[in-house]
Amino acid sequence: MVRYRGPLSQSYIERDELVVSPSYTRGYPFVMDHGRGSEVWDVDGHRYLDFSSGVAVTATGHCHPDVVEAIQTQAERFLHMSGTDFYYPIQIELAEYLSRIAPTREPARGFFTNSGAEAIEAAIKLALYVTRRPYFIAFYGGFHGRTLGALAFTASKVVQRRHFTPTVPSVTHVPYPDPFRPLFAGLSSDEGEAVVRYLRDVVFAKKVCPDEVAGVLVEPIQGEGGYIVPPASFLPGLRQLCDEFGILLILDEVQSGMGRTGRWFAVDHENVQPDILAVAKGIASGMPLGVMLAPRSLMTWESGAHASTFGGNPISCAAGLATLRLLEGGMIANAAKMGAFLQERLRAMMPGHPTIGDVRGRGLMIGVEFVRNRRSKQRAPGLRNQIVQEAFHRGLLLLGAGPNTLRFVPPLNVTCEHIEEALMIFETALSAVEAGHAV
Ligand code: PLP
Repeated sequence: MVRYRGPLSQSYIERDELVVSPSYTRGYPFVMDHGRGSEVWDVDGHRYLDFSSGVAVTATGHCHPDVVEAIQTQAERFLHMSGTDFYYPIQIELAEYLSRIAPTREPARGFFTNSGAEAIEAAIKLALYVTRRPYFIAFYGGFHGRTLGALAFTASKVVQRRHFTPTVPSVTHVPYPDPFRPLFAGLSSDEGEAVVRYLRDVVFAKKVCPDEVAGVLVEPIQGEGGYIVPPASFLPGLRQLCDEFGILLILDEVQSGMGRTGRWFAVDHENVQPDILAVAKGIASGMPLGVMLAPRSLMTWESGAHASTFGGNPISCAAGLATLRLLEGGMIANAAKMGAFLQERLRAMMPGHPTIGDVRGRGLMIGVEFVRNRRSKQRAPGLRNQIVQEAFHRGLLLLGAGPNTLRFVPPLNVTCEHIEEALMIFETALSAVEAGHAV
């Protein structure tokens, strides 16, 4: 039964149900009126702390004045001209900025899109184009988007794929190394190395010949799959394997990128350089923008090979440029500092709350995994869902990730005071659920 927090919210949701797709995944009845920074208000006037950031998107908080001003200034000049057929300075400036910060071996070129899935589509197409090879490797738990190409790589929840086959048929999935739930325990002390060995010894020996593999698509921190940080050996091991067989290492930084982990990209925590990188979500503080980045010497496809009418829209580019400046101007550093503080405080709750199985993450990309008890590690998805509901009713917006993990992804300029307030609400909600006293 849905518990509404006010009559206006209820009436909007009743209207929504008649005219909006039921495939959307709304977990609780939050109907937004407006937002500022880490705070949002619903149409009934209730205030909430937004530790979801609109699914890890509002990197600079809601309506940062610099971003709003950049959007307004651009809107008065022109709204659209299609960057695929014409030029405009704001898109070139953004591409130059991205080229400078991209973790690629040499300065990158960018292909602009409207979403993460489209950035993944572009990455897949570029990999096919330059390698002329048909196969790909992806990971269980991975989420790369809902369009049919990206969906072929997504293996996060069955509901996301059911009834949507055939997709692109040439993707082989392998386990993602999860230090909390190692699959190869007993066979290897290092789960990251074990997965790379499995690829080499099993997949490449028995299913696909590595010289027919165009790319390996991987999230450097698995997002929708449950906020899983792989062992340090994993990405360097993949890089080495790819280099050995001329396979492209394609990183999906749609969720983990743009400063969220306390560095520009999650891969910047490892000493690894990708061949292709997909970015979206936080890049423009909420305006639709994605980009596929690749070194100049790799992005050599001919004119007409790929394009998009709206991708790299001038207003999104203006918001993107303002966002990058804010991130570099202090918000990435704040994400590192506040993330360490938030993780430490969440870990400190573990002795008093046996249902918290694990706290993990980097910067402000933090997951808390709930279990029935720590020894069995039996997943507790119902408990996680109840906590999300309870937190909502107490004024904190949270989202799940994976079957039984809760993610904390506040804006990168979140303050210490807001973190303290969110932790208090979270712990109250958790205690109520653990005691069976949920309101
Ligand atoms: N890749 C990752 C890692 C994501 O988390 C998502 C969305 O959650 C996507 C791709 C797809 O992005 P979009 O929803 O913008 O298409």
